[in-house]
Amino acid sequence: MARIVMKFGGTSMAGTERIRRVANIVRKQQAAGHEVAVVVSAMAGETDRLVNFCREANALYDPAEYDVVVASGEQVTSGLLALTLQSLGSKARSWLGWQLPVRTIEAHARARIETIDSEALIASMQAGEIAVIPGFQGIGADGRVTTLGRGGSDTSAVAVAAAVGADRCDIYTDVDGVYTTDPRIVAKARKLKAVTYEEMLELASVGAKVLQTRSVGLAMKEGVRVQVLSSFVGDDAVPADDLPGTMIVSEAEMNELVEKGDMERQLVTGIAHDKNEAKVILTRVPDKPGAVAHIFEPLAQASINVDMIIQNVGRDKGETDVTFTVPQTDLARAQALLEDRRGEIGFNRIITDSKVAKISVVGVGMKSHAGVAATMFKSLAERGINIQAISTSEIKVSVMIDEDETELAVRVLHTAYGLDANDEAA
Ligand code: ASP
Ligand code: MG
Repeated sequence: MARIVMKFGGTSMAGTERIRRVANIVRKQQAAGHEVAVVVSAMAGETDRLVNFCREANALYDPAEYDVVVASGEQVTSGLLALTLQSLGSKARSWLGWQLPVRTIEAHARARIETIDSEALIASMQAGEIAVIPGFQGIGADGRVTTLGRGGSDTSAVAVAAAVGADRCDIYTDVDGVYTTDPRIVAKARKLKAVTYEEMLELASVGAKVLQTRSVGLAMKEGVRVQVLSSFVGDDAVPADDLPGTMIVSEAEMNELVEKGDMERQLVTGIAHDKNEAKVILTRVPDKPGAVAHIFEPLAQASINVDMIIQNVGRDKGETDVTFTVPQTDLARAQALLEDRRGEIGFNRIITDSKVAKISVVGVGMKSHAGVAATMFKSLAERGINIQAISTSEIKVSVMIDEDETELAVRVLHTAYGLDANDEAA
C-alpha cells in the first residue's frame, strides 16, 4: 500500500463525461490498495474566462477580488469530482483551500504556499475516503482566498504530496509524459522514462509546458517523486504503479536507473523552445561602474524577470550597448520603466524585438562533458541560423534566434544530439 496524490489538469476535467473518466482512474488507484488524495484544475478554458470577466468588470482590478473570482473554477471541479465518485459508490469529499487550510502568503494572484495542515486530510484518507482538493487556491493571513498564479495547480499537488508524505505525486495531463522535445515539431521525439529535477526545472523554465516551473522547484526541495502521465487512456492502459509516464527524480535515483539499465545516459536530455521572450537593446550606455545596476534594479523591483544579458565590449567614447531579454508580456512595462529612467541610465535608444525565440538544450550529462555548446553552434551555423544571444548554466545552453527559425532549429538540434527516435543507440 502506498499513499498517492493524483493531479488532473484542465483538459482532463473539462466536462462531466471527462470527470467520470477521472473518477474511474482514481477508483482504480484506490482499488490497488492505496490511500489517495486528488488535486484538480478548473475545466479547460474556465480560468481564462474568469480572468476576462475581471478585466471587463474593472480594468484595474483588485487582486483580492480577482482571487475570489478565479478560485471558483477549481471549487466547481472539486465538488463535481466528489459527486461523481460518490455516484460510483466511493466515499469522497472535497476540501477547499480554506478548509484544510492551505496557508499562503498574502500576495493575491501570485501567492506562495507556506503550510498545509494535513492531519484531518491524512485521517480521512486513512479511513478510505478519497480527498478531493481544488488546486490553485489557498488562504492568506488576512483570511481571504488567494491563488497561486497561472498553472498553480501543479504546485498545489506537489505541496499536498509533501504535506501528506506521499510516495508519489502523479500529474495526469493530456500528454503521456515528458518528451525529448515538442512532438508537434519533431515527429521523432521520444518520451523520456525519467528526468532529474534539475533537468525538468530547466526544461519547464525554458518553454516545456508540461509542468509549472515552481512545482518542479518545490518537488526538488521536498524530494517529492513526481510522475507525468496521460489521463486519456483506455481501460487496458499500463497501471500508474508500473510507471507508464515520465518520472521526475533526484540525480541519485537517476543514477540507479542508469546502472540497472532502465535508462540510457544521454549527453542532452531535451530541447525546449520559448517564443514568449522579447529582446531589448539599449544603445550607448555609459561604460562605467553602476551603469548596468541602473538598468536592472528598476526591472527587478517591478518583478520583471530578465533572462539573457549581453554587454558588448565598450566602444570609444566610453559607451557600450546592452542587450537582454524579458518575457513578452512584460515588454511594454519594461520599456516604460527604462524610458522613465533615461536620464539616470544615460542611454541613447531603446530597440525592442519580440520576434525572437529562445532554444535551449538541457541535460545533466553536460556537467561532465565538453563540446555540447560547440555542437549547438556548429549545427545552427550549418543551417544559416544566426545566434543573437547566448546564455548557459551547468546543465543548459540557450541561444536566442529569429522566431521564424524556431522549428528548423529544434529539428536540427534534435538530430545533432542523436535524440531522434530511430537513433536508438544514442
Ligand atoms: N486553473 C488555473 C489556471 O488555469 C490553475 C491550473 O489549472 O493549474 O491557471
Ligand atoms: Mg497546467
